[in-house]
Amino acid sequence: MNIAIIGGGASGMTAAIAAADCGASVTVFEHMPRIGRKLILTGSGKCNISNVDMNISHFHGNDIKAIQSVLNKCPQSDTLTFYNKLGLYTKERKGGIYPYCEQSYAVVDILRFAIRDRNIDLHTDCDIRKIERVRATDDRTVEDKFVITTSSKKLTFDRVILCCGSNANRNTGSDGSGYELAKSFGHKLVKPLPALTYLTCEEDFYPSIAGIRTKAVVSLFTKPSKDASYDYVGMEEGELQLTKTGISGVCVFNLSHIAVRALDENLQVKVEIDLLPDITKEELPDFMEKRISDIPERPLEELFIGVLAKQLGILIIKRCSLSLKDRCDSLSEEQIESICKMVKRFDTIVTGSGDTEASQVIQGGVKMSELKENLESRLVSGLFFAGEILDVHGDCGGYNLQWAASSGLLAGREAAK
Ligand SMILES: Cc1cc2nc3c(=O)[nH]c(=O)nc-3n(C[C@H](O)[C@H](O)[C@H](O)COP(=O)(O)OP(=O)(O)OC[C@H]3O[C@@H](n4cnc5c(N)ncnc54)[C@H](O)[C@@H]3O)c2cc1C
Repeated sequence: MNIAIIGGGASGMTAAIAAADCGASVTVFEHMPRIGRKLILTGSGKCNISNVDMNISHFHGNDIKAIQSVLNKCPQSDTLTFYNKLGLYTKERKGGIYPYCEQSYAVVDILRFAIRDRNIDLHTDCDIRKIERVRATDDRTVEDKFVITTSSKKLTFDRVILCCGSNANRNTGSDGSGYELAKSFGHKLVKPLPALTYLTCEEDFYPSIAGIRTKAVVSLFTKPSKDASYDYVGMEEGELQLTKTGISGVCVFNLSHIAVRALDENLQVKVEIDLLPDITKEELPDFMEKRISDIPERPLEELFIGVLAKQLGILIIKRCSLSLKDRCDSLSEEQIESICKMVKRFDTIVTGSGDTEASQVIQGGVKMSELKENLESRLVSGLFFAGEILDVHGDCGGYNLQWAASSGLLAGREAAK
């Protein structure tokens, strides 16, 4: 079997090695000067390749059953064994699985060397914008083939695996051209949109709290129109980062795909933040009463000192329309209630998000429903897909590289059959 792989990223390298190990003759086309450019950036240079918690709820897309099927066929144990056999040992840190040395370069090197050792034909600086489907006949057979024309040659393949990634972070090479190749074969896309990114918010107070990091529970709500009521659509817990324009941090990244899709559909999006998640709603009034009795004469601007970041405490008082100079013991029961509400349900209107350059991944992509369980196209036999080009993305924490490896292994092995 003669296989072309378009894209030398995480999924393409995995697919290439898997197909070669099944006896196929493999060619990888990569339009960057080197393969694995995006992989080098991952996990802040440490490359978070997977996670101990493989619950399907960490993966997103319109066809969860199809995603689960791929992860069942090539589970984490399979991908870790694959890495292990190539010489990459792993370790766990706070649930994330990383290369033992915690260096993304090591992952790229190990995959690169495996490609070299298998005599996989690697064409770098080779941009593929067109793949032709031709019917080849000889005396006995009629076969559909794929023809790829590079600047110097015309090459014919039995099978093609599209591993072009998305259009997140274009300077790593993933420029969205894979979507065009998929469309040229008749495939439809779930609209690609940013995911795993920050959110921008309407209120003008953000510059005053920019740079603050605090433990929080972030809940997301959407509504179809101004007069409708908000529906709860998701919640994440973790370290919230406040920026000049809104909110960020892993908990926000993990919710961003819902917010971005909702904004694209012209829904209104609101976030409510629990700024003291370790103290329950029921416990908070007593906590505040005690606090006030401990520092009765202090001004309200100091009410939260030592509990929350100073500027955040000040903002809470201001948003409750209270004077910062008033004494803590001047607060009425009603005012204490309004402070508690602001702490537990700090609300903010979401207006936008980071763009494709500021997004770790793209949600949407080639519809999984147009693929068979082995990741072969239902529209064009011999055409396979793997990685982020598909309508699949995962939460922060190694889920996207797990998807790249699982889908890459499966597509590589199946295409080689
Ligand atoms: C900053 C950052 C940090 C991240 N950290 C993590 C992390 O720690 N853990 C995690 O799980 N995920 C992480 N991700 C996401 C993860 O890197 C991607 O989901 C994953 O790399 C997707 O693999 P892929 O093979 O589908 O696409 P890519 O890795 O993007 O590879 C696609 C390749 O195809 C090439 N290509 C595209 N079109 C063409 C064409 N027409 N012709 C030739 N070549 C082409 C591109 O140059 C590229 O090399 C991170 C992403 C970013 C941007």
